[in-house]
Order: sequence, then structure tokens, then C-alpha cells
Amino acid sequence: MRAFKDGILPGVEFQKARWTGGEITPEIVVLHDTASRLTKGSAANYLRDNSRKVSVHFVIERDGTVVQQVPVDRRANHAGRSNYHGRSGCNGFSIGVEIVNPGRMTSGAGDKARAWYGVLFDLEEYGIEWAETPEQGGGLWMPYAEAQIGALIDLLQSLFDGVDTLKGITTHWYISPGRKVDTNPLFPLEQVRSLTFGREDPVDEQVELASVVVGAGEMVQIDVPGDVLNFRRWPSFNPNVIATIPDGTVVPVLREGEFQGRRWLSVLYGGQEGWIVSGYAAAISFQEAETR
Ligand SMILES: [Zn+2]
Repeated sequence: MRAFKDGILPGVEFQKARWTGGEITPEIVVLHDTASRLTKGSAANYLRDNSRKVSVHFVIERDGTVVQQVPVDRRANHAGRSNYHGRSGCNGFSIGVEIVNPGRMTSGAGDKARAWYGVLFDLEEYGIEWAETPEQGGGLWMPYAEAQIGALIDLLQSLFDGVDTLKGITTHWYISPGRKVDTNPLFPLEQVRSLTFGREDPVDEQVELASVVVGAGEMVQIDVPGDVLNFRRWPSFNPNVIATIPDGTVVPVLREGEFQGRRWLSVLYGGQEGWIVSGYAAAISFQEAETR
């Protein structure tokens, strides 16, 4: 597995969880909601240190702030009894993400919904809706904040680009049926999956039209938190890696473009054209490149 340095995602705050387990090879991401108070830090503080031995890799606050508490290649206790496509004990092969949300609510006084911990939320202010599914049952549910979904997609894209062993995204209710209802029925799972992976890889012609040719002689140096950067056939996170480029390598840039909200560069490496995420390449001058 090419993980992040020490399993920690660059650019997010890391607060080490008390219940950090042994090494794992993560294959799926399990999405949860916290069924907690919405106050920033309250769920994260609990998950970081508690006597019930629970922990999780990432927590996403209502305002989109992400904190990491367990390295991606270490075990966290987020799933409990669970089974994914015939394999039980999902903590042994998954990365857990907790999204702050009150969980299932009941009708409170007036136009309010009541969380299990007694707090009342205004239906209109929070956009709370009644919804019922066979797997989750009925209830009043709070939609996830836009900032949370945006932060989640960024996080998933970073995880799927940085952790080669990851194969899928699932939810707690799916792996612990009848026992768990998170994420809630308002969670846009298909949208999150398609924004993370792209519905399909764009075809060459579309990519060409959507990108521009870069001036001759422009070079970038790979600057990635791990040892190598994925070199891809198309500018998407689908399984399309054709090679990996070692950190520090200088490569010529052919094209650049924005795909699914992210900047990508087409570069030449090992005699092939392919795409890299622009954020992991530092521009260097022609003269600088000549002297290397
Ligand atoms: Zn859960």
C-alpha cells in the first residue's frame, strides 16, 4: 500500500485516538453519522478518548472541518459486528468516516424534531424531513450540510488516490443490517460515489477539448506526501493507473485542465502520456530543470 506519510492525510488536523489498533490493509471506506450533538468538537472529542473503546479514522464537522484520529493503515473501532460481501469484522479492512449528524429523530413540540439526547431542532431551519426505507425504518432526519458533503468528496478523492488497496464506499447500515441506520436516508450515497469516481472515464476526445496545451518547455517536479504519485490514463480516480512516478521526479507538462472540480496535468513519463493531480506537482523553471 502506498499510504500517506505514517498513514496521515496532509492538510488535516491529526489528533491521535486512544483506541488506535494494529496494522490493517484498508479495502473499503465505511460512512457513518455520529448520532450526536452538533457542537463542533463534541463528537470528535468523544471519539478520540472514551471508555467504550470506540474510535474512527476521520470526523467531518457540520462546517466541513475534517479531523483525523487514526492513521489509515491502523485499525479503528467504528463498525462493530459487521459483514461486507461475505467478509465479517469490517474494522479489520476498512477506513471509517463519521459525519456529524443527530441521527434518527422523533416529533418534538410544535415544528421541532427531538434528537435521542433530548435537544429540539427546528424543522425548517435544518431542512429536517420524514423519510422511511426498508433498511433504516422511519424517522425525522437532518440533511447533511453542503460543507460536509463537499469535504467528504475531497476526503474520498484523496483516500482513493493515496491508498491503492481501496475498492469501494459503503455505509454502516449496509454492513450491519438491522443493527445500524447510519448514514441516514437523506445521505446522497450515489451522488457521492459518482463525484468520487466519475460515472465513467472521460474519453480522450472530451479530455482533449476540456484541456489546454501548455507552453513548450514547462516542467513540474512531483511533490507528493507518499513515495510515489499515481500516473493515470485519464484525469479521473477510476481504476486507471498506468504507472507510479517517484517523488521528486521532474516531468514535462503537455496539457492542463479541470475535471470534476480538480486541476489535472497531462505529463510525459516513461515514454507515455498520462495524467497527474496538479496539487502534487510543483512548477519549476526551465533553467532549473536543465541543471538536474
Ligand atoms: Zn455507524
